[in-house]
Amino acid sequence: MNAASNSDLELRGLAVSLGITRGPAYVLREEGMHFPAHSITPSQVDHEIERLDRAFEETIRQIEQLISKQAAGEKQLVDEIVDFHHMLAKDIPRYTGERTKKLIRENLMYAETAFHKTLQDLIGVLGRSVVSRDEDVADIGQQILRNLTGKDLADFEDIEEPVILIAEDLSPSLTARLPRDKVLAFATTRGSRTSHTAIMARALEIPAVVGLPSLVDQVKEGVHVIVDGDRGRVIVNPSERAVLWYDRRKEASEKRAEDQLRYRTLPGETTDGFILELKANIELPEEVEAILAYGGDGIGLYRTEFLFMNRSDLPTEEEQFTAYRAVVESMAPKPVTIRTLDIGGDKFLTSFSAPKEMNPFMGWRAIRFCLEQPEIFGAQLRAILRASHYGNLSIMFPMIAEVRELRLALVALENAKTELRERGIPFNEEVEIGAMIEVPSAALVMEGLAPLVDFFSIGTNDLVQYTMAADRGNERTAYLYDPLHPGVLKLIQNVVEVAHAAGKKVSVCGEMAAEIEFTLLLVGMRLDELSMSPIAIPAVKRLIRSISLLESVPIADDALSMTEPEMIRDYLNEKTRHVAPWTVELFDSEEIPA
Ligand code: PEP
Ligand code: MG
Repeated sequence: MNAASNSDLELRGLAVSLGITRGPAYVLREEGMHFPAHSITPSQVDHEIERLDRAFEETIRQIEQLISKQAAGEKQLVDEIVDFHHMLAKDIPRYTGERTKKLIRENLMYAETAFHKTLQDLIGVLGRSVVSRDEDVADIGQQILRNLTGKDLADFEDIEEPVILIAEDLSPSLTARLPRDKVLAFATTRGSRTSHTAIMARALEIPAVVGLPSLVDQVKEGVHVIVDGDRGRVIVNPSERAVLWYDRRKEASEKRAEDQLRYRTLPGETTDGFILELKANIELPEEVEAILAYGGDGIGLYRTEFLFMNRSDLPTEEEQFTAYRAVVESMAPKPVTIRTLDIGGDKFLTSFSAPKEMNPFMGWRAIRFCLEQPEIFGAQLRAILRASHYGNLSIMFPMIAEVRELRLALVALENAKTELRERGIPFNEEVEIGAMIEVPSAALVMEGLAPLVDFFSIGTNDLVQYTMAADRGNERTAYLYDPLHPGVLKLIQNVVEVAHAAGKKVSVCGEMAAEIEFTLLLVGMRLDELSMSPIAIPAVKRLIRSISLLESVPIADDALSMTEPEMIRDYLNEKTRHVAPWTVELFDSEEIPA
């Protein structure tokens, strides 16, 4: 943390989605609850008091329900805790009720804002007593708050003017629901560049900064905030000087982005005529427009799970077919690679209650889930196959860890084809099939995988986390999470070598593909295709058009002979600046002049 001037509080985090913007803070607290800071009108007072009383009653009722459900003979300890919570659910309203209502009446506060305040006061007092039970009070207080704010967290309906969303964390499904016209940017305590929340921010083209410790404590509701998604900064309560400086930077970066659009119609061709296909990753069908605007050569990764999220039922085969067909048709004749469902990890379905796992990223995820859910998998495969009739479509399987798994996925695909043939429904019999390489074991058994599919796509977001044993969404282990670790690079090198020997193309569709600091290396490592957020395509294309394959190969060889990520990073940065001096301004982060 650092003060840029007396009135500015500058917080430094990780830039995960480009753009600079400013506006009032809208703070989600306590796992997604919002406590409005603005006042209610006097005519709303009775309604707010009623809401408070209802939340108190609902909490007591929920605990009584729990008591009545408890099986006879359950452990004594559990009984005692539940009884104690029952007592608290009655006591907390006694201690806080009148004071909360006074705040509602006299200070015209919303019920949740007022109760949150009196609850904090109560916890503060209890924390000073000898036999402190403040944790239990916080626990039940939380339940009351949840009953007050509603269980379906933040629907953003109360946002009047566009805001900057501040939160501890956001789930990918909540991020997918962010209303673009109401949320200008977001900043969170947790997260990383490759968390699906960050990926969604880029898809929505909303600037975002994550990994900001103590953010929620330092940003008050309604305060003016600047989010600099280019450099990973959040300025709280900015001075006029800071506002001016950032407005100028915003203008310059928008101008730069606009200038780069001139590469839209040009291919990703090196100066010596080697062409890399530059495709887009999409999460939502609406992004097709952006791909065309930014000059993508097609879709290299369509993450279909977002079609399954934020809904109480599963999409039918028909519904999926309609969505996939629309994407394929609107991209035609450009190619579209549809990835089968990658659920689990940090993406969950409300319509399917999967068991809680200790390590969801290492658990029942993606192809592992699909192979055990033949109905869900079959319906998706049939829908994708049917869409293949309407454009240039290929299919790929996520999270393949071993040869057997890929064989089973191919059997499921064959079954889907047989069913369609029997139903007389047309599909492309020659549809190309790919496997994602995201698990180190797969990168090491390429000889077994290569004969089974037509292409490979390296998911570096996962490959890095599994190689380094460092959760991709955890800011604490972010120092280990590095695509430039020689262990990761050697795996990528093996994938390319074995795939090419078998005459198969290889793409990178993880976030590594989107960063210009890696472009020279990926070109030199002979990747055939890169797939990234649409917004990232112009800069990567511009860089590819500034370099030659001939100079990139020895640079990549040199990088691969190094043993430490930092050495590789410095070396690549220097080489990139040298071959493409215009990149300097993107690497260097300018500061507000003193
Ligand atoms: C990856 O892991 O790199 C990838 C592209 O898939 P996802 O980010 O959806 O896990
Ligand atoms: Mg992945």
